[in-house]
Amino acid sequence: MKIIDEVKGAMTIAISGHIRPDGDCVGSVMGLYLYLKKALPAAEIDVYLDKPADIFRCISHIEDIKSGFYSEKEYDVFVALDTTDDRLGDVETIYRKARKKINIDHHVSNRGCGDVNIVEPDRSSTAELLYELMDAEMIDEEIAKAIYIGIIHDTGVLRYSNTSPRTLQIAAELIKFGFDFSTIVEETFFEKTYRQTQIMGRSVLESVRFMEGRCIVSMVSRRMMEFYCVTPKDLDGIVNQLQSVKGVDCAIFMYETGTLEYKVSMRSNGKVDVSAIAVKFGGGGHVRAAGCTMNGTYHDNINNLSIEIAEQLENE
Ligand code: 5GP
Ligand code: MN
Repeated sequence: MKIIDEVKGAMTIAISGHIRPDGDCVGSVMGLYLYLKKALPAAEIDVYLDKPADIFRCISHIEDIKSGFYSEKEYDVFVALDTTDDRLGDVETIYRKARKKINIDHHVSNRGCGDVNIVEPDRSSTAELLYELMDAEMIDEEIAKAIYIGIIHDTGVLRYSNTSPRTLQIAAELIKFGFDFSTIVEETFFEKTYRQTQIMGRSVLESVRFMEGRCIVSMVSRRMMEFYCVTPKDLDGIVNQLQSVKGVDCAIFMYETGTLEYKVSMRSNGKVDVSAIAVKFGGGGHVRAAGCTMNGTYHDNINNLSIEIAEQLENE
């Protein structure tokens, strides 16, 4: 199947991804946008997404993204990438009105929310899946760069277990276009601002291990975010840092989003299915990386999550 066959004849197309977009989400959305603009020059194409982090400025035409502005248009086609409809945020109403809905995703928790569903949980990233749906001869350096960014962000730079031989083949095809992949990896994935580094340090310092060191948890309050002048976008990578502690099977990181409301990120080494736990609390994700939003005190939330983790580890 090729994406172009699914959008043939469409004069208006909308593209979007999930709220609080990560690298895979931004890379996929922009990769598809650049591709369709080239393939269908006469079509009107709009991209809706929460404002991406500054690190993604290297992606061509990123300034075309409409954030916080939503039209009443009824699109011929709406492509939702790396997400389910309930995580589209305010764009969900536009999605509902679209004449044809296409859902492209790799989350195991996604049952498909479109008229056409291309959901492949074995794919490292939505960007990888998207590459397969493109005609290779239409891909250019800018499209390749966007897709490459998507892949490296969801695979921890081709190192997590979701990286397959095919992922590496695709990465090889992409870097042939000649963009400076080394700088992209450094500047979008590894480099942290001083403040980001400080809040990461503080989170690690204040983390607590439990279940004989098999679990680790840390939290950032709104007050801490104010103190360090950071926003949620600056907290990426903290949960991965916690997960890399020797002996840890499951890491939990949460930050306060409102009164008695926390955004929870979980990571595991595969012994715990964190997607199953996130789904129980209204979220989703992958076996080794998932998230949800939880209401209650920090300690209640840890308690509720640790019951689920303990149950899985006992049945191991
Ligand atoms: P992160 O912890 O990096 O925010 O997210 C890890 C994975 O879980 C990502 O694939 C992300 O899309 C997914 N995820 C995070 N939060 C939620 C959520 O609230 N709902 C759903 N369905 N997926 C989530
Ligand atoms: Mn993804």
